[in-house]
Amino acid sequence: MTRLTNQPDDFPAEAVAGFADAFDRYVKATFGGVVRSTRTRQGKVALVVGGGSGHYPAFAGWVGQGFADGAVCGNIFSSPSASQAYSVCKAADRGAGVFIGFGNYAGDVLHFGQAVERLASDGIDARTLLVTDDIASGPPEEHQKRRGIAGDLPAFKITGAACEAGLDIDQVERVFNLANDRIRSFGVAFGGCTLPGADHPLFTVPAGRMGIGLGIHGEPGIEEADLGSAADLAQTLVDGLLNDRPEGSGERVVAILNGLGGTKYEEMFVLWHGVQKHLRQAGIEIADSDVGEFVTSLDMAGVSLTLVWLTDELEKYWLAPCDTPAYRRGSVEPAGRDDAELSKEPTAVEIGEAGSQPSRKAAALAASLLTAVADRLKQDEAELGDMDAIAGDGDHGTGMARGSRAARDAAADVVKRHAGAQTTLNAAGAAWSEGSGGTSGALWGAALNAVGNLLGDQKAPDRDTLSGLLRAGLDAVTRLGGAQLGDKTMVDAMAPAADAYEVAMAAGDEPIDAARKAVEAAEQGAESTRDMVAKLGRARPLGEKSRGTADPGAVSLSRVLSTIVDQLTS
Ligand code: ADP
Ligand code: MG
Repeated sequence: MTRLTNQPDDFPAEAVAGFADAFDRYVKATFGGVVRSTRTRQGKVALVVGGGSGHYPAFAGWVGQGFADGAVCGNIFSSPSASQAYSVCKAADRGAGVFIGFGNYAGDVLHFGQAVERLASDGIDARTLLVTDDIASGPPEEHQKRRGIAGDLPAFKITGAACEAGLDIDQVERVFNLANDRIRSFGVAFGGCTLPGADHPLFTVPAGRMGIGLGIHGEPGIEEADLGSAADLAQTLVDGLLNDRPEGSGERVVAILNGLGGTKYEEMFVLWHGVQKHLRQAGIEIADSDVGEFVTSLDMAGVSLTLVWLTDELEKYWLAPCDTPAYRRGSVEPAGRDDAELSKEPTAVEIGEAGSQPSRKAAALAASLLTAVADRLKQDEAELGDMDAIAGDGDHGTGMARGSRAARDAAADVVKRHAGAQTTLNAAGAAWSEGSGGTSGALWGAALNAVGNLLGDQKAPDRDTLSGLLRAGLDAVTRLGGAQLGDKTMVDAMAPAADAYEVAMAAGDEPIDAARKAVEAAEQGAESTRDMVAKLGRARPLGEKSRGTADPGAVSLSRVLSTIVDQLTS
């Protein structure tokens, strides 16, 4: 249970503000997250880490000398937006290139990938680093596709030390890849976490049982088993990891026992006692160890074990000194304070040319439709969240509600300033992506943006343009997300809707009648996802569990379309 909240929606932002104030000697806030408040020399490669909030000390707790230069802080369990990542990277850049490191989650990949493109167009060599340590989330031959969990700690600690040591960007990338190839984690869950403002946990595990293969976003385990004693669990964790040794692993490791937020330190020490015994019995040399909370999942009960299969180089960087709010080692030279002023606000949308009369009329209509959509998604928030919690991470409801609200506000703002339809939908799309965070936020942002580009700011929306609207949105979603029909995503509702709409328009239907047919097709498409197994996104590792529940993104898409049609006919 998260008890200490004000407005639950404000929880992540207030947590970052409080953190930055409390640890002023290490960090300062900027739009999108925090960067070091201590001076950093020019010419050092920067490491920015990030992802959703709710995982403290990951990621902001690791910003400081010898470790990360900045952290991008998204909403609870949902990826930060591209502009948040861009802002933190700009503030952290010291002229030698910037890495954005994160656990391999679809939303982060989309948003951070967009940030890298924007940084590149400013002439900054920016690259992403994807941690893929969780052995339960994919087979060994697909190590690169696995998701990231507590392996984030050693992967970024080692990479941060390599940056501090003065390696150039290619060399740092090589060190990161070496580390990620040799880090493996395995975890179990005893109980799910409760999102701020929610009154029930995302999942429960019966007493005496455990979920094997936990996720750090409140996903349930991949399978369930009897919990047994601490010694039994120690054996399970060690055996799991020893069965998944990387090639050429050697026998020397750093072992890290991580608590997920709701498991006591003393319990972890009892567990560690068994872990070290089994490792030593298996002939493994423990070069260094740590037990504590490093990558948490709000108040989730559970633990994970991480092994770093060392090389001399990895050991050197793991042991190098660092000084951050949540992780310290050895002693670092005091660096003095960095006085640079940083902006806390996103850059405001500029309106070039005012829209033509008909385009402004279309923009005002779009803004009113977005108001209806935001109301509807607020109503459906809990239901969509529960659907997403079955095989995903439970954030689809909050993501859609937050994204649509931001889009509504952005549209209303630019419409007041005489924007045309394109500027309005471009602004709404950027705000949706920004406000929502998750995978679906990036995709909805791209869809609105594409619809805006088709409408333009000057022309009157004619029949031809109207006919292409849904197709333009769909193309943007598939281009960015790469989903195909049958993958159990929003595309399974959107593609049939776009087809039905196009066919009806070509047959001479009135646009509103064609739109009604699109809604019907979307609803059927969403329903058809019930029997599918998720192949993409957060739900992928739990694909089988998703059978029997419709895809939340497909359902929310059909709700949005039906709200639009209802609003147009009311
Ligand atoms: P996240 O998966 O980051 O938690 P959300 O929970 O907001 O994001 O959205 C989940 C929905 O996003 C899924 O139900 C699915 O419809 C959609 N989705 C996920 N990945 C893709 C993709 N690659 N292409 C299209 N839709 C996707
Ligand atoms: Mg989700």
